[in-house]
Amino acid sequence: MIVNCSRCHRLTRATPQGLCPDCQRREDQELDGVLAYMHTHAHLSAGDLSKGTGVPIERILRWVRDGRLLATRSAPPTPPSSSGPAQPAAFHSPPARRQR
Ligand SMILES: [Zn+2]
Repeated sequence: MIVNCSRCHRLTRATPQGLCPDCQRREDQELDGVLAYMHTHAHLSAGDLSKGTGVPIERILRWVRDGRLLATRSAPPTPPSSSGPAQPAAFHSPPARRQR
């Protein structure tokens, strides 16, 4: 099946992410960058991640939705810090796995 790449809008063979191979590779690299950034910075919001890595925030949120951001990170759940509940720092412990 041929689809439009959801990122560069070129025609491409359908992939699970709806991206052409080029964009897929670029996204994988961006995701690696985001993960590396998360390893060196604790308690990031999506906005912090976006600012720190240059990856658009909606892409980060999509990775979270797709489970890619969390699935590739095996950090132990951290207790809620005293920084307040304002930040949706969902990157450390996915809601689905938060209860133990
Ligand atoms: Zn593309």
